[in-house]
Amino acid sequence: MSILVFLEHHEGELQKGALGVLSKAVQLGAGDVAAVLLGSGVEGPAAKAAEYGAATVYVADDPRLEAPLPQPRVDVLAQLIADKGFETVLFAQSILSADVAAALAARLDAGLNWQLVDLVAREGTIVGRQSVLGDSVLVDVGWTTTPRLALFRAGAFDPTPAAGAGAVEQLEVRLEEHSLAAEMLEQAHEESTGPSIEDADIIVAGGRGLGEPEKFALVEDLAKALGGAVAATRAVVDAGWYPYAAQVGQTGKSVSPTLYVACGISGAIQHKVGMQSSKVIVAINKDANAPIFEFADFGVVGDLHQIVPKLTELVRARKA
Ligand SMILES: Cc1cc2nc3c(=O)[nH]c(=O)nc-3n(C[C@H](O)[C@H](O)[C@H](O)COP(=O)(O)OP(=O)(O)OC[C@H]3O[C@@H](n4cnc5c(N)ncnc54)[C@H](O)[C@@H]3O)c2cc1C
Repeated sequence: MSILVFLEHHEGELQKGALGVLSKAVQLGAGDVAAVLLGSGVEGPAAKAAEYGAATVYVADDPRLEAPLPQPRVDVLAQLIADKGFETVLFAQSILSADVAAALAARLDAGLNWQLVDLVAREGTIVGRQSVLGDSVLVDVGWTTTPRLALFRAGAFDPTPAAGAGAVEQLEVRLEEHSLAAEMLEQAHEESTGPSIEDADIIVAGGRGLGEPEKFALVEDLAKALGGAVAATRAVVDAGWYPYAAQVGQTGKSVSPTLYVACGISGAIQHKVGMQSSKVIVAINKDANAPIFEFADFGVVGDLHQIVPKLTELVRARKA
């Protein structure tokens, strides 16, 4: 069985989620695992990718692949899959990867299973695990044809460096004319000093209990002190207190950090489904009956406006 993992990168850094998927593919031991990296000036990330157990890292380095547009990537992947006969192609969740995986499925008339949380080798094939019905049930999903395409949830696997042949092979980039029709005119990056919520090991999240948008500073200060990222509930995002990109939950992002600190969040099911796989959940809420205490590992009943600044002070003092 041959597996190809799509590696995404940003500003010279490989995306942690994609490296996690590569590690999982290698650990499966179900056949040859290769990775593919597309972009412009990607020698650095390619060398790094070779340290995660891929037998070969295919590299398509071309200025036309610099902008994060899906169609040129679909051309390169479709060609590589046809040339090398990959039976399985794995992606880690991101906006670009989801676009590429969906367009590739359409191009190859292939089956795509998405929002997977695990992958197992069974009876000579592979089976995906999908978390459904508000994360209350895990179902096995399969493919009836090859190539099998799979998109994994953010944070599904941890990257683990592993020995592999790690040969880097350059691909000849041939793009379809229609794939060059879209042009990236402008890109704006939100200013951010910490990790993104998809990549963060520590997340501090704020909810309506903060009382007003300005109080998000409390959450940001704690996140900064802990070296983590800031997340939010839909209630506060809808109210315009914080950007949509930070929303965790059913209609936001799914995260699984080591530590999730929920400040003034009730723990509605739609929020819970996006963060319940966090390793340790700490809830700060003034209502002892708030649903979040039913699934938090540690709870503090009290006013977050008093507790959070003290916690931040303690973390800073400890770190100093
Ligand atoms: C189809 C659908 C999809 C949805 N998708 C999402 C989603 O993706 N993500 C999401 O988050 N929600 C989602 N929701 C909304 C969800 O149902 C909840 O309304 C939302 O999560 C509540 O946000 P909250 O916890 O910030 O606010 P609330 O439910 O209002 O909770 C605020 C909490 O703060 C506590 N509090 C108040 N003051 C203080 C204080 N001073 N100190 C400490 N604690 C205090 C209160 O006791 C309360 O528990 C969705 C809803 C629907 C219907």
